[in-house]
This record gives sequence, C-alpha cells and structure tokens, in this order.
Amino acid sequence: MTLSDRLALASGGVALATVGLAVAGVPMPPGLGLALVLGGFAAAALLVLPRYAAQPSAVALDGTMRASATARGGVAWAMALVLTAYYAATYWFPGRLDGLVRLFEPLSHALRGRDSDVWFVYGTFYTLAVAAMGVRALVKYRDHPYHRARTLAVMAVQTLLAWALPALLVRLQRPELYFSYTWPLDYDFLFPSNVQMLRDHGTLGLFALVWGVLLLAVVTPMLTYFYGKRWYCAWVCGCGGLAETAGDPYRHLADPSLRAWKIERWTIHSVLVLIVATTALVWLRATTGFGGAVSDALARFYGFGIGAVFSGVVGVGFYPLLGARVWCRFGCPMAAILGIQQRFFSRFRITVNGGACISCGNCTTYCEMGIDVRHYAQRGQNIVRASCVGCGACASVCPRGVLRLENGPGARMGERVGPGAFVPEDALDVLT
Ligand code: SF4
Ligand code: SF4
Repeated sequence: MTLSDRLALASGGVALATVGLAVAGVPMPPGLGLALVLGGFAAAALLVLPRYAAQPSAVALDGTMRASATARGGVAWAMALVLTAYYAATYWFPGRLDGLVRLFEPLSHALRGRDSDVWFVYGTFYTLAVAAMGVRALVKYRDHPYHRARTLAVMAVQTLLAWALPALLVRLQRPELYFSYTWPLDYDFLFPSNVQMLRDHGTLGLFALVWGVLLLAVVTPMLTYFYGKRWYCAWVCGCGGLAETAGDPYRHLADPSLRAWKIERWTIHSVLVLIVATTALVWLRATTGFGGAVSDALARFYGFGIGAVFSGVVGVGFYPLLGARVWCRFGCPMAAILGIQQRFFSRFRITVNGGACISCGNCTTYCEMGIDVRHYAQRGQNIVRASCVGCGACASVCPRGVLRLENGPGARMGERVGPGAFVPEDALDVLT
C-alpha cells in the first residue's frame, strides 16, 4: 500500500468517524464538522487517484475480482449495511440524523438561505459521490473518449441541474424543481396535486410543467430514436449518473443468467403498469371523486415500496452486492419506456464483428445490465436489447474489437452480420 493510499484511508476514516459522531449526537461546531466530512471524503477521493493513474486506462482493473470491497467480501457487506442503514434512516427515521443535519447548516444557509434537512444532506452526499467517483472514472478511462464524455455529462447534470439549481430556486423562494427528471421516474410529477402546485407558481411553475411533458412526450422519443436509451440512462439521469461513477467498481456483479433476464422483464414492466394505473386513478379521484381509497392506497404503496424501498434502499444500498444498476434494470419505469422504444423503434444497436470473437466473455462479465453479450458475439448477431444503457463497457473490454455502439440504419438484432473489418477497441460513436 502506497503512502497516498494510506492517507486516503485516513482521510476517509476521519470523514466517516465525524459522520458517526454527529449521528451519535456528539456536539461539535458545524463548520468544523462539515469541513471534516466533506474535506475528508474529497481528500480520500483525490488521494486514490495516483493508484488509478499508475494502471493502464481500462474498464477492468487488476484485483477487482478479488478485492473484498468489489467481490462481495466482508468490506462489501459492511458497506451495504452502512448504505442501507443510511437510506432507511433518511426515509423513515430522519430524527436519527439530526446531528448530521446540523453539520450541514452552514452550507445549506450559504446555498439555499434556509435550514438544512435530511434531503439536503442526502443530495449533497449524492452529488459529492458522483463528482468524486466521476473524477476517478475520468482518470481510469482517460484513453477512452466516449467514457470521458459521458462521465463529464453525468457529473455536470448532477451538480448543476440536480443540486445547485434546485438549491438556488429555494433561495429565491421558488419551488425546488428538477429539470432532468420527469414522470414516471419522478413518479408524482403528473399527480394532480403536483400539477396544481406548479400552476400556482406562475411562469416558472408552468415552464417546469410544460418542460416535463415535452421531455416525456417529445424529447425522449426523438433522442431515443436517434441514440437509444443511452442519451438518458448513461448521460443525463441521476440514478444512471451515480451508477456510472460510484457504481463503476461493481459493474461485474450484475447477474447475466437467463433467469435474471426473465425476472427483469416482469418486474420492470410491472412497475410501469403500476405507476400508469396509480396516476390514472389519482386523476380519476381528483376529477370525479371516485376510487379515493384505492388511489390513496396505490399512491402510498408506490411511494413506499417503489420510490423508497426499491429505488433507494435496494437500488443504492445494495450496490456492493448486486451491482449498481439493480433499479435501472429491474424497476425504473422510465427505463422501461425507453427500453420498449429502443427495442422496437430506434437506430441504436451494438454491431458485432462475429468472426473475430474468441469467446473470452469479458463483455458479458462487465455488462452492468447483465446482458450476455458474448452469446450474441459468438453468433455474429447485432445486439438490440431493451435494457442496454449504452455504457460502452462491453466494447471497451473486448480484446478483439468485436463490438461497436452505433446509431444508424443497418441490421437489427437476430440478423447475422458477416465477419467484417477489424474495429478499433475504442471505436464508439459519441452522441454526434
Ligand atoms: S451491452 Fe454493452 S453497452 Fe449495453 S449495457 Fe451492457 S456493457 Fe453497456
Ligand atoms: S469480449 Fe469480445 S472476444 Fe470476448 S466474448 Fe465478448 S465479443 Fe467475444
């Protein structure tokens, strides 16, 4: 272990210990506590960079399959426990985090002009994780232009659109709006109460409402047609942003079995049906007064079961055990809509130069969505799978340049493409 590694461990330890003391209610000056937490985590993230810079630029790093933190060892279980406990406290026992919330008062007042709360703390940690692990990804992927571009995109969207802008709006006494999300990922965005709230907030509220509808009904179909779901899942979405940065060390943990694929198709489409039905019922109730008890129960169930337990506690808490895309793969209703379009009505596909495949399986191992890429590569079949988020990892880890992410007319999945010219390892089409 190098000196830099040791210092990184010490910095992270100081930050974690400060969080623990704050949660335990040990009084400390908020400014000092905040500096120790944010500074400690940021320093730890920066101090590990030399370790990545010393290794070749690659998706797969030495030791990933053996390290306790990334191979479901004791460290991974401990991390999952801490993350799950933090999520559970944020959702259901916010009072337990009062000490931690107090540490963030100086930042909340400086940024938002109001007291801190558990969601501000959560958003700040989330953004710090995307930023710090994003810098790590930039170093790790330094020779891969596609990965660098999508990492910069998710870092910018999270920091500016999902953290700084909502905070600024709060400071200006406006509603806290998130322009990078819409229904059904923001599940109550189209609920009557939210629509009314936006209409009550004048031009800005109306703009947010119109933008949300346009994002769902015009921007999404258009961009998905040209670029596949990757434009959102790997470049814009906050859940995808966290998965592609903080979740990057866990991409090999996704289950590539046929059984998992079958479960995935049932669960993700069930969640989509559930939110469509819930939204329809709350509107029915609002307009006719009919079905109040059912719509209330469904809305409560969705908020608790899907919004909190599935997307938060399981979706992020279990990163070190199940991989970073559990929510995106098995639950996200936005991904379900994007996936249906990608599967049937999009120019995006991964083209396969099957004759060059040596069946090493790297592509399947590092697919964060659990797609058995090798299965298609061995058969020389283009890949058009609803779940593919276009991260490009499969193409980058392939030692033979078999795979290529493309937007354009050509063979669809199932059609055989003959052995063609050798494709360079990082020949990925950026969103242009
Ligand atoms: S198939 Fe390739 S591009 Fe698609 S999600 Fe898997 S690794 Fe990423
Ligand atoms: S990584 Fe490349 S060579 Fe290996 S199985 Fe996948 S497509 Fe074939």
